[in-house]
Amino acid sequence: MKGSNKLVLPQNTIGILGGGQLGQMMALSAKSMGYKVGILDPTPHSSASQVADFQIIAEYNDQKALNNLANKSNLITYEFENVDQNSIKKIKDKVLVPQKLNELSITSHRKREKDFLFNNNLPVVNYQYVNSESDLENAISKIGFPSILKTCEGGYDGHDQIDINDEKDMNNALTKLNNREWILEEKVKFNKEVSIMVARNNQNQIETFPLSENIHKNHILHTSIVPARVNDLVHEKAKNIAVKIAQKLDLTGVLGIEFFLLPNNELIVNEMAPRPHNSGHYTIEACNISQFEAHIRCICGLSIPKIKMDHKAVMVNLLESNIAVARKNLNNHPDWHLHDYGKADIRNGRKMGHITVIGDSIDDLLNKVEQFK
Ligand code: AMP
Repeated sequence: MKGSNKLVLPQNTIGILGGGQLGQMMALSAKSMGYKVGILDPTPHSSASQVADFQIIAEYNDQKALNNLANKSNLITYEFENVDQNSIKKIKDKVLVPQKLNELSITSHRKREKDFLFNNNLPVVNYQYVNSESDLENAISKIGFPSILKTCEGGYDGHDQIDINDEKDMNNALTKLNNREWILEEKVKFNKEVSIMVARNNQNQIETFPLSENIHKNHILHTSIVPARVNDLVHEKAKNIAVKIAQKLDLTGVLGIEFFLLPNNELIVNEMAPRPHNSGHYTIEACNISQFEAHIRCICGLSIPKIKMDHKAVMVNLLESNIAVARKNLNNHPDWHLHDYGKADIRNGRKMGHITVIGDSIDDLLNKVEQFK
């Protein structure tokens, strides 16, 4: 293993799988700390490569390209969980991969993720595994309507999800199973969706960021409000769950955890992502270190400071042509922290950038991003 000393210092090279906005913001943090950064992504001039030292243009599962990235890097990380685990296994003897395969394997598969939560006594929605028509009928008989059918792998931002509210929806879903693995979940009546970012390094130092309150539109995160407008006990509960998950997962790096907050103030874990998360972008301007710096520090074996929030924050995602509106209006809003990911093509639902505003009053901040609210 190259760099068997697990402390990887600046001037070494970090290879990132994935060239999107998360890779871009990771790269920006790493670059400002003095690391060199290489990106593997099939899109030429990807968001992350615009701020990196080099890009290898290839598919993520192209083993030759991955070997090439491994040879050029001292450490490998990734910006998404749907990384091919076999490809990663094959480079582990060439380069340091600080994040455990276990982390990837659990968080990239909804059944394994929910089993992990259930087996560790962590709060999880009622769920059933579905791999056949009879499984689905059995699952519905246990969970009932309304429920949601989700693919175990590959789904994000509500992709590959089927709402099942009645028999008609069920019959429709039966025709869509296609031998794939699915999870049927009870549709939860929640008051709010909230999320927390947790960071852990290889000395078992664990830090959590403040809880974010998230508003989704069409299953895609739209606005994050931080700190979440919930009672102190909920903040404390989320933090405790996050610390327990980080320990049980043997986490290295940053992990995002999304929750449903029930009317009785109980939290249920919806999803986990073994990487910085969209709802943690506010940390760039509002905290003493960002989720991206925390991730880089943890995977490089560096210590992490106690996380402090210096300002309240509201973050709004800019989808599709909203980026053009934001660019045009930027000059009238010196208080906007605009992040433009530099993506060439506008596609349906694509995240093109975000705006964060910071201050003392959430209401004032929400007014400042009214245009995109
Ligand atoms: P997911 O891809 O699992 O994060 O789901 C995307 C969004 O769909 C969530 O942020 C929720 O707004 C909604 N959703 C997902 N699962 C459930 C559930 N079991 N009950 C109610 N709403 C859900």
